[in-house]
Amino acid sequence: MSYKIPLFDLNFGIEEEKAVSETLRSKWISSGPKCLEFEKVFSEHLGADYAVSLTNCTCALHLSLIALGIESDAEVIVPSLTFVATVNAVRYVNAKPVFCDILSCESLNMDPDHIETLITEKTKAIIPMHYAGFPCDMEKIMSIAKKNNLSVIEDACHGPLSEYKGKKLGTIGDIGCFSFFSNKNISTGEGGMIVTNNKAVFERIKNLRSHGMTTVSYDRAKGHATSYDITDLGYNYRMDDIRASLGLTQIKKLLPDLKRRAEIRDLYISELKSIEEIIIPFEKNTGFVSNYIFPIVLKDSNAIKRDRLRNILKDRFIQTSIHYPPVHLFSIYGYKNGSLPVTENVGDNEITLPMYGNLSDENVHYITESIKKGLL
Ligand SMILES: *Cc1c(COP(=O)(O)O)cnc(C)c1O
Repeated sequence: MSYKIPLFDLNFGIEEEKAVSETLRSKWISSGPKCLEFEKVFSEHLGADYAVSLTNCTCALHLSLIALGIESDAEVIVPSLTFVATVNAVRYVNAKPVFCDILSCESLNMDPDHIETLITEKTKAIIPMHYAGFPCDMEKIMSIAKKNNLSVIEDACHGPLSEYKGKKLGTIGDIGCFSFFSNKNISTGEGGMIVTNNKAVFERIKNLRSHGMTTVSYDRAKGHATSYDITDLGYNYRMDDIRASLGLTQIKKLLPDLKRRAEIRDLYISELKSIEEIIIPFEKNTGFVSNYIFPIVLKDSNAIKRDRLRNILKDRFIQTSIHYPPVHLFSIYGYKNGSLPVTENVGDNEITLPMYGNLSDENVHYITESIKKGLL
């Protein structure tokens, strides 16, 4: 079957085709001038000093941990209500992820009070993830980090241009990580970026991204350099200019897209807020956010009832999703039910509704009417 209303739709047009053709015709398709330009434009949009483009956000998280000196035996505090990459990255450096619960069904971000109880002598970092682009309580998290000498890596995948007290998400901690996977607010197929204001971290990540080499091939092709040394155990985590040219086109559309998403969110809220059985997370947030997804949480419900409603929506050709099945319950992590009660409750009762810039008011109405029918 195919859905009448998908969960997400690409905001692609002739501009993306033109940008890619131009890059193809330039004959420089690997990391080069387009990546540099994308990094410049992205850091300017966020008000960050430095940006490094990467293959995806998973390697952005990996390199962030290395650059901040997180090594084996370290403990890193992470949410469980996130995409698994946030947690897996900690394992790549042989450190131990320590799971933190979320605040509530209204506020799906890490609970700072729980973070404090998880800190031990081995704790070296916290990775807050800003759910749907709604900011974590960064004031409290940064103060906990400062008091305990911890690094903070923001997983800001959901929140390009989202704001917290006048700052853009991703620029508050030591490093901010972003993804440009197809269904994110900026889509390049696969893609990622780190932003930081720390020059040493920037230099180290740039070096680690490309095998630990002291020069890159674009410099050698331009005659700026002829040889190189290897100074660090690096990786090949580079973005390429084809994707960077897509990113440059996409970032121009970002603000209008986010404005439309905010309208869609308002419409959803006005049509759903009177329904007794539904909690709308972050309903009272008034700041500017990216609205990467639109979650609802069913009250006094369970996974069976939730899945029944999802099936009713599916029968009406509406695609939905779950953000997220809790990471700590996956076989590879193997925690028992009951270890993070609030996260588990959301894992059982959350439904993600369609959200993208060209979702029509009419379709939002069809979705909310279908939910009302499904709850009868
Ligand atoms: C998408 C996503 C990632 C992973 O990003 P990739 O670019 O696919 O590696 C990590 N964390 C969160 C919260 C995400 O949504």
